[in-house]
Amino acid sequence: MAAPVTITFLGGLGEIGRNCAAIETEGRIVVLDCGQMFGGDDLPGVDAVFPDLTYLIENADRVEACIATHAHEDHIGALPYLLSHMAIPIYGSPFTLGLVDHKLRERGLQNQADLRPISDGDRLNVGPFDCEFLPVTHSIPSGNITAFHTEQGVILHSSDFKLDLTPVDGRRTDLSRIGALAHDPGIRLLLADSTNADSPGASKSETEIGRNLASLIRSQDGRRVIVASFASHVHRIQQLADAAVESGRILVTLGLSMRRNVKLARDLGILRVPDANIRDIDDLDELDQARALIVCTGSQGEPRAALTQMAIGRSKWLQLDANDTVIFSSHPIPGNETAVASVRNGLARHGVRVFHSGTVDVHTSGHGKQQELQTLHSVAVPEWFVPVHGEYAHLVAHQELAVRMGMPDERVVLCEDGDQIVLSDEGIEHLGSIGGDHLYVDGMVGDLGSTVLAERRTLSDGGFVVVVVHLDMERGEILAGPDVISRGWVEVPALAGHEAAVADAVEADLLDALGDPDADIERMTQIARRAAGRTVNDRTRRRPMIVPVVRED
Ligand SMILES: [Zn+2]
Ligand SMILES: [Zn+2]
Repeated sequence: MAAPVTITFLGGLGEIGRNCAAIETEGRIVVLDCGQMFGGDDLPGVDAVFPDLTYLIENADRVEACIATHAHEDHIGALPYLLSHMAIPIYGSPFTLGLVDHKLRERGLQNQADLRPISDGDRLNVGPFDCEFLPVTHSIPSGNITAFHTEQGVILHSSDFKLDLTPVDGRRTDLSRIGALAHDPGIRLLLADSTNADSPGASKSETEIGRNLASLIRSQDGRRVIVASFASHVHRIQQLADAAVESGRILVTLGLSMRRNVKLARDLGILRVPDANIRDIDDLDELDQARALIVCTGSQGEPRAALTQMAIGRSKWLQLDANDTVIFSSHPIPGNETAVASVRNGLARHGVRVFHSGTVDVHTSGHGKQQELQTLHSVAVPEWFVPVHGEYAHLVAHQELAVRMGMPDERVVLCEDGDQIVLSDEGIEHLGSIGGDHLYVDGMVGDLGSTVLAERRTLSDGGFVVVVVHLDMERGEILAGPDVISRGWVEVPALAGHEAAVADAVEADLLDALGDPDADIERMTQIARRAAGRTVNDRTRRRPMIVPVVRED
């Protein structure tokens, strides 16, 4: 019997973000991506969410390598944390590894890093697997599809995937090799990107967006132009650079990540801009402002990003006015709409002329829509299929698409974070779940769970009221207090009256209970909590967190 292959999905199935899977055979594990997700409004104080890496950490002696399919945060963001637990080689394209290297250096982990660059078409052993790496088009350069040649046949992982037939760098998704693999030896299992599986049609080519951007920039003659984009979207930056050259402007990079990525991409020959046409923001004052084309971060309304700072008038570099044009070369990621709207409002207050993907075609998705996914399925003709990279509804949409393309229902296996499957001679067996919890990062990694998050939500919804009281249980007396301290509950001057009422209610109930010979300190704490809670509710109809501090002498 050929050796079975087990795949454990540790993240990215049920959400957009924190993609990570463990793929193993004969007891040897390779990690496929190790990304993070950003905390949302429902996760107060959470900087990032990692996949639950317990499975990998507990089996660290069996983990042999990691493949980074591309350099987006949802694929490499948790790599430093993984590497802080194990020193393993990381395989990826030179651009991907350049950004991984920076991430590791930031955390002093460069010595843990054994970075092994791969080129398109390479076929080499990674841990126990014979892996082949194919080019794929996406919204970042140099992403790779991975074909795992295993005893169970070829397992093809699409990576983040679109079919751009006219990519900026001419590097197309290698459909012909996928077709050849489908023909011989056949693709046993396909794992494919589901992000846009519920969007009909096909995504626009990046070059089409470039043409639109260039003509929009041409039409802003005599004005300073600022374009917000992702710092990792090097092809978009390339098209802005081309537009700058064509319209006699100077491309000015603003923001640390923008500067870093542009340098890396130029060093690797991925981004081509004549020296005369590119400057850093430090040089902005020396330039004719009407000839500046500034590219910056902040397209998602991120609080610390350059554009957000400009919108609130706190930019160190730029004060915007009616001579400025801002182009959002992006689309708000679900969850970021409010933040983006507030940046747009801020820009409007400065009299800035604003364009965005809702008004002009200045953005396209990096993820293939239904027609592109159908093409992938029809070329790959997989025997088995697991939709990956998507919220649950996206995974289901991709499942339905595969069935519409002729796959039998039972050959499409819907999995979620934590699910483990095994591919053997008999096909795929679903082994159940090993967990798939969220690992929250707030300063330190972990030690933050549902209890603390629930407390934070209560605090942010209603503030807190603390009642401090000191009792002599034997003599049945209140020695000190009750003192009431609150934050985030009621405005001054009404506050003093409410606090006094809480203190009075707690005092009255405690004095009653102190006569009871069975009453202990726990019971007293409960009484203080109830009296305070009841009074708070009666007087204000609000629900702050009530914290009774009852001490005994
Ligand atoms: Zn991506
Ligand atoms: Zn992704």
